[in-house]
Amino acid sequence: MGIHFGVDYYPEHWDKDRWETDAKLMQEMGVQVVRMAEFSWFKMEPKKGEFHFEWLEEAVALLDSYGIKTVLGTPTAAPPAWIIEENPEILPIDMQGRVRHFGGRHHDCQSNSAYREHIRRFVTAMSQRFAENPGVIGWQIDNELGNSHGDLCMCNSCKKRYQEWLEKKYGNIEMLNEAWGTAFWSQGYNSFSQIGTPLITAVGENPSAMLDWKCFCSDLIVDFAKWQADIIRENCPNHFITHNYMCFDNKVNYYDLGELLDFVSNDIYPAGNWQKQPHQPDYEMASCQDVVRGYKKQPYWVMEQQAGIAGWGTMGRAVDPGQMSAWAMQSVAHGADCVVFFRWRACAMGTEQYWHGILGHSGRPGRTYEEAKKLIHTFTPHMDEMQGSMPAPEVAIVHSFRQNYALDIQPNHPDLHYVEELQIYYRGFYEKKIPVDFVQGMDDLSGYKLVVAPLQYLMNPELEQHYMDYVAQGGHLVLTMRTGVKDEHNLCMIDRELPGKLGDICGIEVADYDCLFEKEGSVLFGKNEYPVEKWADIITLKGAKAIGEYGTSFYKGTPAITENGYEKGKVWYVGTEPSKELVSDLTEYLAKECELTKLGSAPEGVEMMTRENAGQCWLFVINHTEEEKVYHLYGNYKMLEGEKQDFLKPYEVQLFVRNKYGRTN
Ligand SMILES: [Zn+2]
Repeated sequence: MGIHFGVDYYPEHWDKDRWETDAKLMQEMGVQVVRMAEFSWFKMEPKKGEFHFEWLEEAVALLDSYGIKTVLGTPTAAPPAWIIEENPEILPIDMQGRVRHFGGRHHDCQSNSAYREHIRRFVTAMSQRFAENPGVIGWQIDNELGNSHGDLCMCNSCKKRYQEWLEKKYGNIEMLNEAWGTAFWSQGYNSFSQIGTPLITAVGENPSAMLDWKCFCSDLIVDFAKWQADIIRENCPNHFITHNYMCFDNKVNYYDLGELLDFVSNDIYPAGNWQKQPHQPDYEMASCQDVVRGYKKQPYWVMEQQAGIAGWGTMGRAVDPGQMSAWAMQSVAHGADCVVFFRWRACAMGTEQYWHGILGHSGRPGRTYEEAKKLIHTFTPHMDEMQGSMPAPEVAIVHSFRQNYALDIQPNHPDLHYVEELQIYYRGFYEKKIPVDFVQGMDDLSGYKLVVAPLQYLMNPELEQHYMDYVAQGGHLVLTMRTGVKDEHNLCMIDRELPGKLGDICGIEVADYDCLFEKEGSVLFGKNEYPVEKWADIITLKGAKAIGEYGTSFYKGTPAITENGYEKGKVWYVGTEPSKELVSDLTEYLAKECELTKLGSAPEGVEMMTRENAGQCWLFVINHTEEEKVYHLYGNYKMLEGEKQDFLKPYEVQLFVRNKYGRTN
């Protein structure tokens, strides 16, 4: 029996005489695990060295007596006021040089040695205290590392550490001057000690310096997490260590961070961006799940799964009946082995008073509680069966933090966003019910029928060769606009026309281009003309054939999308940002060319996803809409949960299984 469902619990927010009622209600709901304590430093250490863990031990023991295990969070995302009083230099400095003061959370500089010592004292005491506690199974380090840090910290401690990081990377200042192109605007340095953190300038910034700064910040966060992980590993060798990621968030390189962890966790709030859009579209949420699975290429936990209305000062929409279940099972469908709902009960105090949970403020079970209970009791036995299984997509989309950083620094077009560009291609496959993995460029690509690598903006000889080898050996590769533009230092390539050496496998050359800023473009593909946005590479064929042509501007009639056979494989190049309709038709074309397997057919808002182990393949069909939907499955599956095959009620989740060897079992 594995652990599959839980809640985030804050006993410190409630009178102790309520705890047993909570434990009983949780047990009836089917909760097997809680996460606790990740924001309760003051309650555990109200004065330096005066530890009060007894209340937490009491909560852990009470829950354990109801069969509920505990994941403990280290509370280092919210150092208490007495620490700030003792060491005010812990407070972070923003790009304007302003201090970010106490009163919220994440008010800490992660390089500060005084803060590191406070953490060493506290995490040592906490981990020693709970090492042998039978109710505790693992640890979450800090909370959402990178969140709320804005541009991170510009303080003198961070400056010194940045200088050391640069010196280690470049060895001598001449190398740095070359890598950063400091001949421009008289930015040359005589020594590393002259280099500052990127405080606000009179105007402009050095893109090469900014790329190093972002990589430094990521390394610093990983080091900050390691500081705690090492202490916990030493004291609690039998406990797991995880961290709650935030999907595609890019403050820290999650692949690097994952190396410290036993498994990755994720926080997923489909309505977490409620000020801008009521709910993220289901394809975007699905892409978040897939990238999280890719960070460690293994099943993961969702440590915070949205259970109610999101809100701080203002609030998002209600979560419709059934919608929370659809969200939770989307997580499971993409590889989550455990889903922890945020949070048990809406809180009466603080910034997140309106961030709702399974229970409302009153603490009385209502529709959300009943829905969660039904979901957990229905799916727990199936999740025992499928524990450890993984999706096995035929398609991979390449994801990279460095590309993301470089395009954040210089988006080329004001509305070009790296992650959104990946999601444009992702959506094409998602809507065709073709599962997708996210991979890093240098991963082994040989198992994929098709690899889509959008915006390969920064290029180096190793990655170039890796793509060329993949195609030469029979791989199918999609490359796009803004490929091979820069070297690894974020300096423009000058050796040949774009896309550099990859032009050989694309069979094209891009000597000219058009940024479609407030300008409409179009592409003729097949029998239709489609709008395109943001960019138009003006392509000269060098062996490739055009499968799409521009319909506007002085390059009307020239190639926009090309196809080229290279040794045993094939490469497509897309010189523009395709519209949703063009991506859809292009995906259909690629699916035929690469003989991709579709799970079925269904309208927008209906998701299909599989995960499998050696013997069985489970298929989830999820309706993310408030309307009834009809769908059709390809393949012979046996229904495990659901009312009627080929038909979905609003937000219905259906589960199917097939034996991988031959007949349906
Ligand atoms: Zn700092």
